[in-house]
Amino acid sequence: MKQLDEKIISCTLCRLSENRKNAVPGSGNITDPLIVFIGEGPGRNEDLKGKPFVGSGGKLLDELLDNAGLKRDDVYITNVVKCRPPKNRKPKRDEIEVCTSNYLDRQIEALKPQLICTLGATALEFFTGKKEMGPNHGSLLKSSAGIPILATFHPAAVFRNRSLKSLLQGDLKKIPKILGQDHKRNRKSGL
Ligand code: URA
Repeated sequence: MKQLDEKIISCTLCRLSENRKNAVPGSGNITDPLIVFIGEGPGRNEDLKGKPFVGSGGKLLDELLDNAGLKRDDVYITNVVKCRPPKNRKPKRDEIEVCTSNYLDRQIEALKPQLICTLGATALEFFTGKKEMGPNHGSLLKSSAGIPILATFHPAAVFRNRSLKSLLQGDLKKIPKILGQDHKRNRKSGL
């Protein structure tokens, strides 16, 4: 993972590298994350700090993870593309292709998560080919490589539509059960 991070930080394979301040490889548990969260691409704050989900969307994500019994340090968080698209536009097809084939695919191979949680439509489409979030959020899908995918909304979508917060929270609360951790937690607490 360290070598991959270094390649990402100095990458010039696509036009997104031209205007970035920092590339954002990802952060979190790199030894045995059971789950990897994947957003679309860095925003302004992430570009400035070189870390994923550190702006208002990141604060919301931390709150929702906490409510779902998950800690940021236990999971790995990254994005489909590693450099901020200008004015936060959607990454283009060729940018996604070059970035994922060189970096995201290799990160997933190295991390070997039990589950990938896609945050938003760009990550959902990349892993499953599905374009619509409505009918797919909260369901367990499969990536083309056979990894279970839990699709949910992008945290930033909640700022445009507050009613999505409870749906996003409900989806994330399914994670411990999907990972088989409910049972373990209950046994530890004697329930
Ligand atoms: N939005 C994303 O998709 N990723 C980030 O890291 C921050 C905002």
